[in-house]
Amino acid sequence: MDIHRLRNLDRPDILRAKLEREGVERTTLSFYRYVRLTEVEALRHELYQEWGSLGVLGRIYLSQEGINAQVSLPTVHLEAFRAALNTREAFADVPWKIAVEDDGKSFLKLAIKVKKKIVADGLADDAFDVTNVGEHLDAAAFNRKMEQGALVIDMRNNYECLIGHFEGAYLPKADTFRGAIEEVVDAFKEKKDAEVLMYCTGGIRCEKASAYLKHQGFTKVAQLHGGIIDYARQIKAQRLESKYKGQNFVFDERLAERITDDVVSTCMQCGTKCDRITNCNEVTCNMLLVQCEACATKYANCCSPSCSEIHQLPIEAQRAWRKGRSTRSTRTKAINDPEGLRRRIREEEELLALNGTLHPELTSVTIQEKTSA
Ligand SMILES: [Zn+2]
Ligand SMILES: [Zn+2]
Repeated sequence: MDIHRLRNLDRPDILRAKLEREGVERTTLSFYRYVRLTEVEALRHELYQEWGSLGVLGRIYLSQEGINAQVSLPTVHLEAFRAALNTREAFADVPWKIAVEDDGKSFLKLAIKVKKKIVADGLADDAFDVTNVGEHLDAAAFNRKMEQGALVIDMRNNYECLIGHFEGAYLPKADTFRGAIEEVVDAFKEKKDAEVLMYCTGGIRCEKASAYLKHQGFTKVAQLHGGIIDYARQIKAQRLESKYKGQNFVFDERLAERITDDVVSTCMQCGTKCDRITNCNEVTCNMLLVQCEACATKYANCCSPSCSEIHQLPIEAQRAWRKGRSTRSTRTKAINDPEGLRRRIREEEELLALNGTLHPELTSVTIQEKTSA
């Protein structure tokens, strides 16, 4: 078997065009399972072929501790995919969660990666009992406990909480899981006997976080089973009130799925009520931000005048400028200081008015290009 062929080599624009042409209805779903896996490399190659032939796209992490998968596949292949999972004991009857809002373009390619852990949690697993997890609650039970005044903790990173969260939840300021969990332990160290409800996107992070909190001495720890994704499904199916307001941040091309019409955030550039989340279009920046349509037009879909100036250059000049600079397309980092961003925009706009450019180095780049051409 030639393993070099077992990965995608096409560029994103080609993949996107391919997906547009495909014209079949797709379903986006996710699942995970903590389960002992052996010969993970070989398994990875088998799954790549097997799932690839079913038209599965998505991001899958495999490790000795289990699987964490976010995928999209042609809806007609859902049954075949379930059957394929069931033929493997490790994945048999694994519960999956179907995305509520789906345009079928959530993933462009199939990427199966072998990792040390299925969630990069930064925790030393041997230091605590990872199987001693909190009580799993469904949507109705979670709502009930919220009404009884339980403490609600968002176990996601700061940028994921921006555009939607449970009412009154504690929202960590940290931008990593490890940071968030330590922040939570510290923030509630006086309340270790309080009823604690935790939640995350799909439930997987709470498996670790709840065990860690119990290890730290918290006595009444419960977690939202299936995370926000499944909460949204249950709310719809059972016509319950959604105590989650706004959008759910997801890790695919969609960036978010809408749970309720509430808008809980503001545009980071102008401050108007808005929950449109996007990445700065300048690939060397790629910062996540909340940006309204008007600001998107004003700044050419970029986070700042500085990025926007680069982005509006002729394509060759953009390339020349980027030469030697790294692009940040694979990393998710968000602007976490909107005040600071607005200050920077004001300063940059003043400079721009004064000098006509924010990148004096551009003149040398274009001259070099011209002489070498
Ligand atoms: Zn705006
Ligand atoms: Zn930018």
